[in-house]
Amino acid sequence: MYRNTWMEVNLDAIADNVRRIHDICGKRIIAVLKADAYGCGDNHVAKAVLEAGAEMIAVSSLDEAFMLRNEGYEGEILILGATDPEDASRMIEADISPAAYSMEWVRSVIEHKPAGLKVHLKVDTGMNRIGFKDIPSLQEAFSLLSENGCKMEGIFTHFYCADSSKELTQKQFDRFAAAVKALDYPFPWIHCDNSDATVFFKDDLSNACRLGVSMYGVSSYLSDLRHPIAMFSQVVMTKQVKAGETIGYSALYTAEKDEIIATIPIGYADGFIRANKGRCVWIAGQFAPVCGNVCMDQIMVRLEKDVPIGTPVEIFGPHIHLEKMAEELHTIPYEIICLISGRVTRTYIWHGKNLTEENARIIKSEVNSL
Ligand SMILES: *Cc1c(COP(=O)(O)O)cnc(C)c1O
Repeated sequence: MYRNTWMEVNLDAIADNVRRIHDICGKRIIAVLKADAYGCGDNHVAKAVLEAGAEMIAVSSLDEAFMLRNEGYEGEILILGATDPEDASRMIEADISPAAYSMEWVRSVIEHKPAGLKVHLKVDTGMNRIGFKDIPSLQEAFSLLSENGCKMEGIFTHFYCADSSKELTQKQFDRFAAAVKALDYPFPWIHCDNSDATVFFKDDLSNACRLGVSMYGVSSYLSDLRHPIAMFSQVVMTKQVKAGETIGYSALYTAEKDEIIATIPIGYADGFIRANKGRCVWIAGQFAPVCGNVCMDQIMVRLEKDVPIGTPVEIFGPHIHLEKMAEELHTIPYEIICLISGRVTRTYIWHGKNLTEENARIIKSEVNSL
């Protein structure tokens, strides 16, 4: 690691959050590690969630499932999104379970020798994304798949307003319950709750919950989860500018008086999007606003008091909560962390040990041995 812009992921805190939520819901945990575990590194986060008792990992695509297999994960994997029925044999061989989500998918998969394929039926209870919308088609899919040797491993739905509406969630759940009852089959995995539903919605039908964002401390209902992720950089240069000088591309910022400007090596290619113009980062006790346009690789911020080169900069973390940053950017925490690009080094805390130096050493020695 030569460029000092990094994201810190505390795996112990993630494990604690999973245990905490497991205590609340009492059901089996499916850890949703799609999109490289929301940008945090799926193989690392997998270690933490498995240690905390998660019994299945869910991803969004076959590529993500294979990524976990290649990293050595041998447990249960569910693909929540679409898959190509032509890949049935690959999924059987790698013991990866797809979602069955439309009649087209079912008719196509039975043309591809699906015997032994473990499937989870997806019920669309109102989100209108993927899934069966009515019970007759769900029953037909069930029959076709079981007649062709598929293992009916699970049934699930997805709530679209669990963060805000108990009423809509209940309505979706009632539809799901009717579908499960109509099939009258002892599915090993029955799941409907995402992070928010897991902590506020109780039911006697489902036996597992799908946790995503709450593992990272983001929840609409729990305020005492740990905050496992933070993002940092370092000051690489500071300077005095005179009143009237402009800063950055398109001269969008003009110094009102003599000011101290610091340059920080983070930009939109790191996922620090241009909408951050005017927002603050945290430097040695000061909230420092981004002056002018965010560049691809760098930003300039205004300081009240000069600081030495190398002073750490918090992008989000203990002083600027991820949720606060999301609010200021008119988005959701999910989007911010998923957009942090591969160029940003991930460092990990695991079993109380900070792996930062170790990571840095590993990367350095790999570069030196090229
Ligand atoms: C992403 C996703 C989840 C996890 O949602 P969170 O809000 O992060 O807990 C669960 N289920 C499905 C189908 C998803 O796509």
